[in-house]
Amino acid sequence: MIDFELSDNVQTLRKMVHAVAEQAMRPISREYDEREHEKPWDFLNMMWQVSGGNPVGGAVEKKPKEGTSERNLAMCVSIEELSWGDAGLYLSIPNSGLGGAAVAAAGTPAQKERFLSRFHEGKPKWAAMAITEPGCGSDSSAIQATAVRDGDHWVLNGTKIFCTSGLMAAEKSEGFVVVWATVDRTAGRAGIKAFVVEAGTAGMYVTKVENKLGIRASDTATLVFEDCRVPLDNILGSAEVPKTSEGFKGVMATFDATRPIVAASAIGVGRAALDFVKDTLKEQGVEIRYGLAPHRLTALERDVMEMEAQLQAARLLTWRAAWMMDNGMRNNLEASMAKAKAGLVVTQITQKAVELLGPLGYSRELLLEKWMRDAKINDIFEGTQQINQLIVARRILGYSSKELS
Ligand SMILES: Cc1cc2nc3c(=O)[nH]c(=O)nc-3n(C[C@H](O)[C@H](O)[C@H](O)COP(=O)(O)OP(=O)(O)OC[C@H]3O[C@@H](n4cnc5c(N)ncnc54)[C@H](O)[C@@H]3O)c2cc1C
Repeated sequence: MIDFELSDNVQTLRKMVHAVAEQAMRPISREYDEREHEKPWDFLNMMWQVSGGNPVGGAVEKKPKEGTSERNLAMCVSIEELSWGDAGLYLSIPNSGLGGAAVAAAGTPAQKERFLSRFHEGKPKWAAMAITEPGCGSDSSAIQATAVRDGDHWVLNGTKIFCTSGLMAAEKSEGFVVVWATVDRTAGRAGIKAFVVEAGTAGMYVTKVENKLGIRASDTATLVFEDCRVPLDNILGSAEVPKTSEGFKGVMATFDATRPIVAASAIGVGRAALDFVKDTLKEQGVEIRYGLAPHRLTALERDVMEMEAQLQAARLLTWRAAWMMDNGMRNNLEASMAKAKAGLVVTQITQKAVELLGPLGYSRELLLEKWMRDAKINDIFEGTQQINQLIVARRILGYSSKELS
């Protein structure tokens, strides 16, 4: 049954997280945008304490109905609020993050226990996922990093770039990095596997941390692997190289979980900009007159209504993708739809917000220009706008990746 109402649990969580965003994130938002590479330790420690290491929102595990959960929906709702506070700070919060999502999607029950239980105890920890390479981005089947079996170890070699939280996961906490590498280059996609590399493993080095346009509070690292040895059972899923790319599909399933999360973050940034514009207009005595015929509206009113409608469309797609996961349904199409829509909408809304407020929007006195910079990443990572549109087209038209690329 379709239900557009959030449960009492999720609404309570939303209010709590909004308070954190307003009181703990907004006041330090500009500071940690300016001081890129410095960490807001008071905030990070506080978030580790309150979330118990859960990916934010994971706290809502209560099952509303037999056979269903609200975990993914709650996560999306929380992440919208946190990103309304500050998307870069949200991305820097210690938790199992993208690396944990890969373990959850492709790991065995024993691996989930071994790698994820640490996020509920001890000091703050991070996990990261390293797929992108200097010669491989959108087309992950072009991965060049290798994993070669040597006795009871895998030996990894290669370079990974633009790894979110790579520094914190690889060197500054007892976390881990999930590294995608090929065990057989001749096998194409079927040879690509994911390996968990524990922080501090010999042969894994952080060689660079990027200076970025936006989300500057989040570290983005280059990782080099030189004869980096990990135990045999650190491979996620089977070590077999199948004849088809079925195994690769298992690894790709990580994105079905993470794309709605990126979409939710985009919506949070877009809503921050939209709320600011509406509040400013209100202060200046400009009311948005809902319910009038379009020809009677001012251009400004039409702009604001269009921004609201687009944001709500992206949110509904995102909630649907998360709801499908919570109900055990395959959401590959819906996850890409949500990500493509939200990535586009957030760049449009934040640009329009800067435009509507004129020079004030462009000034560093306000956060509007920062939100415009923070927005664009949502159109790039976890599959670019074009790649997610391609996935949507393939799913709808029934083409394989070979037939439509
Ligand atoms: C801040 C930041 C954080 C990141 N975090 C991570 C991370 O944690 N882990 C990780 O592994 N990676 C991460 N990335 C990398 C990101 O996922 C890649 O940048 C992204 O996948 C695109 O790859 P690329 O940069 O190689 O671009 P390319 O694949 O070279 O694409 C360049 C352009 O061509 C377009 N394009 C490519 N193929 C097609 C096609 N078939 N049809 C139409 N258009 C196409 C793309 O949409 C894009 O606009 C991060 C990047 C940034 C900037």
